[in-house]
Amino acid sequence: MTTIFGKILKGEIPCTKVYEDDLVFAFDDIMPGAPVHVLIIPKVELANLNDVDENHEKWLGRLLLAARKVAEIKGIAKSGYRCVMNNGEDAGQSVFHMHLHVLGGRGLSWPPG
Ligand code: 5GP
Repeated sequence: MTTIFGKILKGEIPCTKVYEDDLVFAFDDIMPGAPVHVLIIPKVELANLNDVDENHEKWLGRLLLAARKVAEIKGIAKSGYRCVMNNGEDAGQSVFHMHLHVLGGRGLSWPPG
């Protein structure tokens, strides 16, 4: 089932692109929870980690490499940033196309709520 992120990937819904390569696409979150809040999605329809197996390792690895690049692009690599992936209802996942949040630009409290 195509989600709102699937539509962003197809260019059917606008977004502010931050980074793209052959496997992943990154864009600013529409309701940022920090000065920098970027979402990185794989260019394959996976709902969350429950959908992945060994065949998806290249997308999983690329999500983290892209997070590093996004942090550099946004100027928060040195100050620090948090990568979060919500999986399922209890984690607060609201869009069921796997995505990695990259948050930074201010001190972030821990643990999250
Ligand atoms: P989740 O709660 O599933 O982990 O994260 C979904 C994120 O997607 C939320 O932070 C929300 O603000 C963001 N979001 C939802 N709809 C849109 C949209 O249409 N465009 C963008 N750029 N972000 C969205």
